[in-house]
Amino acid sequence: MAESPTPKDAAAVILLRQNTNPDNPEVFWVKRSTKLAFLGGFHAFPGGQREASDSDVSVGNCDDPERAAMISCAAREVFEEIGVLLTRGSETLTVGQRASLLDDLESGRMSWPEQLEHYGLKLSAADFTFVGRWVTPPFAPRRFDTWFFLVNCPPKQEPRVTGDSELEIGEWIAAGEALAKWGRSEVIAVPPVLHALQTLADGLTDDLVERFLSIPQAHREPTRRIEFHPNYICFPVRTPTKPPATHTNCYLIYNSSEILVIDPGSPYEDEQQALAAGVDDLMAANRAVREIVLTHVHPDHVAGVGALNDHLEKKTGARVPVAAHRLTAELLNQFTVDRHIEDNDVLILNGEPKIELRAMHTPGHARGHLCFYDGRTGALLSGDNVVGFGSVLIDPADGNMRHYLDSLERMRSLPNLSVLFPGHGPAVGNPREKIDEYISHRLQREELILAAVREGHASPAEIVARAYTDVPQKAHAMAARAVLAHLEKLAADGLVTRDASGNYSPIHSA
Ligand SMILES: [Zn+2]
Repeated sequence: MAESPTPKDAAAVILLRQNTNPDNPEVFWVKRSTKLAFLGGFHAFPGGQREASDSDVSVGNCDDPERAAMISCAAREVFEEIGVLLTRGSETLTVGQRASLLDDLESGRMSWPEQLEHYGLKLSAADFTFVGRWVTPPFAPRRFDTWFFLVNCPPKQEPRVTGDSELEIGEWIAAGEALAKWGRSEVIAVPPVLHALQTLADGLTDDLVERFLSIPQAHREPTRRIEFHPNYICFPVRTPTKPPATHTNCYLIYNSSEILVIDPGSPYEDEQQALAAGVDDLMAANRAVREIVLTHVHPDHVAGVGALNDHLEKKTGARVPVAAHRLTAELLNQFTVDRHIEDNDVLILNGEPKIELRAMHTPGHARGHLCFYDGRTGALLSGDNVVGFGSVLIDPADGNMRHYLDSLERMRSLPNLSVLFPGHGPAVGNPREKIDEYISHRLQREELILAAVREGHASPAEIVARAYTDVPQKAHAMAARAVLAHLEKLAADGLVTRDASGNYSPIHSA
């Protein structure tokens, strides 16, 4: 079974504006570029991964070398990303000098430790208030063990997103307003960012740091419930899924009175119990589970249905109905599907806010695959059609490349599409870019495959060797299934033909 990626050291800075209102302080937040493959389009605080030389800087008032290195990392990242120099002695530098320092750092003419040394700049731990260490849950392709520091913006320095950075915009915003934007589903952010905003929105009180550190997640305990948008909890559960992914996202969609559970997919008892506890938490506030809904038939999306219903029956005396597309229901025999969901059916959660999800029959990865679209917020539950971790396998005959590309086009054309909540990995904050990338990747592959057939390579195995030179040998068996899916599409498109022994040859247009 695949191992989750090991978390890498990182640091982030929650920068407080000078003379800000202590009841609702302003912080500097940034929007990550939608071009970024990982967490593109997310709102975040400036920060990034530790570099080897970060530990070559001496930090005053700090006798813990690890903490010193993370403070140095935080300061360097803030300088690189938003041009603010959090060192003592930087007040003697002019704006122009700071700019040329930044230029030297980014071009590699001078290292971070050399700069501090050369200009007599000093870091002091007294300027960096530690407010928690958060570890990315083991469902993401990249994981970080991130130290968060609360820092006052030095006088006469104005943060701005630097030219070639990975950030789209940066701005001062009152913590309460930032939180309200999240509440209106206008932004997506990861749990530590939301926790920081919530904590700050309650004011710069004497117990501020205590409140930051009051939850286990601020002490490296991975978060189980991830609320990228309000009312949509992403609850990754460990599953025997296709590597490199190790988890499948179950979604708990809730409002004031009802809960919808999508894809409880773990066959493991400890994970089923964790999910049941998450559902119990939501039910404790007088909510009822309305239905268990399945995006598609694959075991890593359905294996926990029975256990969850056993749990609910024990708790409430009744099982909840299970709903899926008819083509999914036909393939399932381990439990009964009580209701069929067809294309364009609307799932409604009664209560506040009223949540309406339009079902979209989107075959390709599986015949009965469904996506669910919330037109109010632009969120699309994309199942396994687009994922935040790993790649999507199109495996005939249940998988169909032609249908898959049509489904991607249909998803892409949703009028208000703003975010994808996939079956694996983090939310996708740049959905159109991501879907375009998927489509063009498949079409490029198709061209290579067609070229291989035209060169005389006839069987999927031969074609893999020709068209998947970038894929390691051990993945070739799986790639052969994808090639077959492409060949079936090319045959349906009238570009190749298949003989009785399963070999393919090109059809030349007259
Ligand atoms: Zn699947």
